[in-house]
Amino acid sequence: MRIRCPLCGERDSREFHVMGAAEWLARPAPDAGLEAWDAYLHLRDNPAGPTRELWFHEAGCGAWLVVARDTVSHAVFEAVVAWEAGA
Ligand SMILES: [Zn+2]
Repeated sequence: MRIRCPLCGERDSREFHVMGAAEWLARPAPDAGLEAWDAYLHLRDNPAGPTRELWFHEAGCGAWLVVARDTVSHAVFEAVVAWEAGA
């Protein structure tokens, strides 16, 4: 699988480390309550199909990316730097 890092260009996915769903960017407020924090920390979907994930360009620029891809076909639709992607 190839990922086009917005800072480095197209690279092999082995240069990256996947950290899971991009919902990690939507952190609850500190006073959001136990249910919100429980869901944030422990509940994740495991979609078969299109998804957004956080990837770290470990062997490259060190940037966090939000990668939109299909978990079935492994097609990569888009990769953007996380601070530009928002939640
Ligand atoms: Zn990079």
